[in-house]
Amino acid sequence: MSLIFDVHPTSDPMPARRREEILANPGFGQHFTDHMAVATWTAADGWHDSAVVPYGPIRLDPAAAVLHYAQEIFEGLKAYRHDDGSIWLFRPDQNAARMQRSARRLALPELPAEDFLSSITTLVGTDADWVPSGGETSLYLRPFMFASEPFLGVRPAQRVSYVLIASPAGAYFAQGVKPVNIWITESYSRAGRGGTGAAKCGGNYASSLLAQSEAAEQGCEQVLFPDSAEGKWVEELGGMNVYLVTNAGELVTPELTGSILEGVTRDSILKLATDEGLTPVERKVSVEELLRGIADGAIREVFACGTAAVVTPIGAFKDIDGEYPVGDGAVGEVTQKVRRELLDIQYGRAEDRYGWMTKI
Ligand code: PMP
Repeated sequence: MSLIFDVHPTSDPMPARRREEILANPGFGQHFTDHMAVATWTAADGWHDSAVVPYGPIRLDPAAAVLHYAQEIFEGLKAYRHDDGSIWLFRPDQNAARMQRSARRLALPELPAEDFLSSITTLVGTDADWVPSGGETSLYLRPFMFASEPFLGVRPAQRVSYVLIASPAGAYFAQGVKPVNIWITESYSRAGRGGTGAAKCGGNYASSLLAQSEAAEQGCEQVLFPDSAEGKWVEELGGMNVYLVTNAGELVTPELTGSILEGVTRDSILKLATDEGLTPVERKVSVEELLRGIADGAIREVFACGTAAVVTPIGAFKDIDGEYPVGDGAVGEVTQKVRRELLDIQYGRAEDRYGWMTKI
């Protein structure tokens, strides 16, 4: 039986004037809407107690397993306001399916896709006034699930909480699209064979933080993680997938190995590539091929992709041996085209020819 998210409205909503102030300059991940969706799973009763309730702190027993063993997963997607005021989601079925895959890997219960979707449509419908309009703004949605059973034994929790919160987000590149520099780490790995790299679990991000600090010390915005076995193959960034544009008109992205997160944006670009006259290719790419290619011009453009920034041009790579600029430092033509095309679909300015958009 599917879950019903009954709405229990807050008696203390954010005053409209303050909300409008926030929406005029929301930043990212700092402000939250008036409500959140919740549901509980127990081994005995399955999913139940679903509702949309006032946003607020979660009561958690200090022995809750998530605080000790990190049995936790999450998702990230956005609600977009179109020019006519309507609100849309981009491929939420993909996030539902990925959350189920993550749940299996972390020994958490799967939330049925229809319940995942109804938690989102009910929350966004309730807090519709929080969806900003204009530019590349959106309402960022963060569903997550964690082991809330108070028990210190190491085993899958028999009580799990699902929560969905929402946060207005400003344009990622408010000052115009700007290429980022990427640090290729040799010190740290993100994911190993048989590990949790393909799951969206909090632990993956905790273990990326030190590499991220190393990158910042090197004047880079993000980290590229090569594979952990050989340190030879390009995998992905800490929070984005990677694409190369070759001279031969190929759009190449590292193939999924089990240690790469299967991005929804990555998958969408694979599908859009042919419309743009490019050949999408999923294969192994070595760090050596990448650096040689950008030096000799065989690789014209490199970009990163993910829900938060859509498509981010990469201006240069850096490692312990030196710095490797990509192209002439300007935003590449293909990068720009792919970025524009995705945004046009998400914001309803281009035909939704793949049926990717879901109306709230
Ligand atoms: N890789 C990692 C490690 C990520 O955290 C993300 C963001 N979810 C991505 C790739 C991109 O995924 P998506 O396009 O679904 O946002």
